[in-house]
Amino acid sequence: MTIDAEAKMQFLFALRSRGVMDKRVLEAMEKIDRGAFVKGLFAERAYEDMPLPIACGQTISQPSVVGLMTQALRVEPRHKVLEIGTGSGYQAAILSQLARRVYTLDRHRRLVAEAQAVFDKLNLTNITAMAADGTRGLPEQAPFDRILITAAAEDPPGPLLNELKPGGIMVVPVGQSDAVQVLIKVTRTETGFDYDELRHVRFVPLVEGMSGD
Ligand code: SAH
Repeated sequence: MTIDAEAKMQFLFALRSRGVMDKRVLEAMEKIDRGAFVKGLFAERAYEDMPLPIACGQTISQPSVVGLMTQALRVEPRHKVLEIGTGSGYQAAILSQLARRVYTLDRHRRLVAEAQAVFDKLNLTNITAMAADGTRGLPEQAPFDRILITAAAEDPPGPLLNELKPGGIMVVPVGQSDAVQVLIKVTRTETGFDYDELRHVRFVPLVEGMSGD
């Protein structure tokens, strides 16, 4: 499906009006077609600023939230980025436009396989998608310049904080899964971690262990 000009204009307008101002982030979101990541019944709503259901009972995040999280992450072209929660693959695809390499993990094998198929179709060759429990991090590729968690944790998982480089940034929604959560930006300093609260969000929960599908 190709994105028509009017839907695309409205999509970008919604992002700007909700505070996505970073030029590189807006360019990435203009280039990567969200419609490629939404299947079936909901595909025609891909350019609305709404979260939508995907397979395995999960959701593709609201585009403006994707934009605001990506903007808060301050990704630079030489960065190696880890995303926890591949879901549809949309967020990883946006990150792939901004970073040198993106690793993305999901506990649902099916979601990883479907996202990989879209990455192949769009020729996004700097993304490595893996079926794994993200709460344990990805020690074989650590440390990372940036870590983005796209599922809500009660606290930022310790193994992931340890995989952040000094000066590195993690963005993570924190709070109970059935309540409003707070998006937190964690910056690793030479001596510890600084925490900033960004805004309220609502994400599906970060769940320990692999899923059966
Ligand atoms: N970033 C996605 C949306 C993520 S929805 C997108 O752009 O579409 C949250 C995802 O986190 C779900 O797919 C869920 O399976 C995954 N998840 C939850 N707990 C996880 C864990 N421990 N490790 C890896 N993935 C996890």
